[in-house]
Amino acid sequence: MVEMQRKKLQARSAAPVPDRREKLKLLLDLCHQLGNPALRMAILGEGNASAKLSDETFLVKASGCSLPTLDRNGVVECRSKTLLALLDKTNLSDAEVDGTLLNSRLDPTAKKPSVEALFHAWLLTLPGIEFVGHTHASAVLSILCSPRAQEFAVKKIFPDEIVCCDVASVFIPYTDPGLKLAQAIRGQTEEFIRNIGRVPRVILMENHGIITLGRSIEAVLSAMLMAEKTAGVWVGAAALGGPNFMTPEHVERISGRPDEALRRKMLKL
Ligand SMILES: [Zn+2]
Repeated sequence: MVEMQRKKLQARSAAPVPDRREKLKLLLDLCHQLGNPALRMAILGEGNASAKLSDETFLVKASGCSLPTLDRNGVVECRSKTLLALLDKTNLSDAEVDGTLLNSRLDPTAKKPSVEALFHAWLLTLPGIEFVGHTHASAVLSILCSPRAQEFAVKKIFPDEIVCCDVASVFIPYTDPGLKLAQAIRGQTEEFIRNIGRVPRVILMENHGIITLGRSIEAVLSAMLMAEKTAGVWVGAAALGGPNFMTPEHVERISGRPDEALRRKMLKL
């Protein structure tokens, strides 16, 4: 009887291990794909990604590591609660934020998490969100560094954009990276959810870059790749006097079509 209980307990305590291993494998795969040099979305130490392990902890890229060559030593497991507690504070010094980032590590010998771990921690609390990716994708950044940045977040130009990136994106006016940015992302994303009624797929940060989020690495990648393709088409169309935007009725129609819902399911969005 005691032996059975022990085995049960062992099985229970062993259960999260393969899940953690699998999540780490998926996260590294996501990082390698986001950092693929051919895609021009992140160079050097740019960009990062994260994976939820439980309500208590998540994995995130360490500061300064490169996405395409990332290995498990460049990934840190952080306590969500420690980082989420910062989001309600103001007037913290850079040293205090850095101290909390270091304190959030489960393994004190692990590398320092990226300062962007703050927004990863919060986005991973949203319902159904298991992975978050962030890059400085070149075509997207061309628009986000232009006077038309906000327009890119709310106007749509072709159906596949709507399937992968939804009817609108969250737009964050430029703000200081780190705590202030994470607080702005929380505020604007909460407003998006109130208005649209669901969690966003894409968050656009003026003069900075793009975040995509989803329940699978495929969802994060699809939104990222499609946003980057859309931005390239947008810039090309702008050079020819456009873009010609889809009407709100056409956007709504694509968003609600059953065949598009099936495509989203096939794409694991
Ligand atoms: Zn960034």
